[in-house]
Amino acid sequence: MRLLFIGIDCLGLYRFERFLKPRLPQIAAWGECHAPLPRTGPSWTSILTGLTMEEHGVTSLLGTAREGSKTFQDLVGKYIFEGLPGSVGVFNLPTTYPPRCRPGDWMISGYPFDPVCCPADLLNGIDYIGDYAHLIVDLRGVEGKSYLWPEEYDNDTAFAIMQLVERVHLRALRRLPGVEYLFVCTTYYDRVAHQCHQLGPAEQNDPLDDAARFVVDWVDQLLDLFSADTVVMVSDHGWSQRENWHSHTGFWCMWGAGVPELGRVDIMNHELRGRVETALSVTDPQIEGRLRALGYVE
Ligand SMILES: [Zn+2]
Repeated sequence: MRLLFIGIDCLGLYRFERFLKPRLPQIAAWGECHAPLPRTGPSWTSILTGLTMEEHGVTSLLGTAREGSKTFQDLVGKYIFEGLPGSVGVFNLPTTYPPRCRPGDWMISGYPFDPVCCPADLLNGIDYIGDYAHLIVDLRGVEGKSYLWPEEYDNDTAFAIMQLVERVHLRALRRLPGVEYLFVCTTYYDRVAHQCHQLGPAEQNDPLDDAARFVVDWVDQLLDLFSADTVVMVSDHGWSQRENWHSHTGFWCMWGAGVPELGRVDIMNHELRGRVETALSVTDPQIEGRLRALGYVE
């Protein structure tokens, strides 16, 4: 495998440094991945298109067509995985609905919709459940509300269901076709953070620490499962316990083939794609051409 791209929704720089980074001494470059607007849809779209929110046009939290936001279908630009010179798998990445694939690639749409895949028979014989299997509300109708989770479940029950979803995902990943470039995402940490919205800032410490530990273990299993020349990990935003909402301070890190030993470098979310493509020695001429057409580069 040439690239393993791991998205960890909502894990901020603070708990990345405390929990994940100490377990990964091979990290060559890392730092803040800054989200100018810390919303999942716009930020993942910037990370994956290499364009700012103003350029790609996805502005809504869930990447749905609300308040004039573009969607995965009509955004300006292309995702990095649409231009790579080899087979691609995209697993549960936010704002990838409806799924679309080049021949030989596969995709399972992530957040916020029920999982749909291409090719359509991809999951035949493979157990799979979406991130929101435990929800009793339909998120498609409630974007803009300040809470996303019903309170019928106590936190421990909700966390246990969410962890089951992540384990099912790992098991599915073992059975999906091998690819040269694999993009995987977990939204577990994000869902724990939102589930904690009724707790005070200090009371959130323990569940968020536990969530970070769970993510570390999940990443460990992923790295055991796949041997990749280059590994990238990134989050779309962090979490502010005081404000009970996403923060601007996500993280990124990379190691492996083509990744220089840079230590800490803070970047904007749309700047990650160029670093990944440089490490892979690939460029998408459409990005440059598009930016030129838009007047963003000379
Ligand atoms: Zn997010």
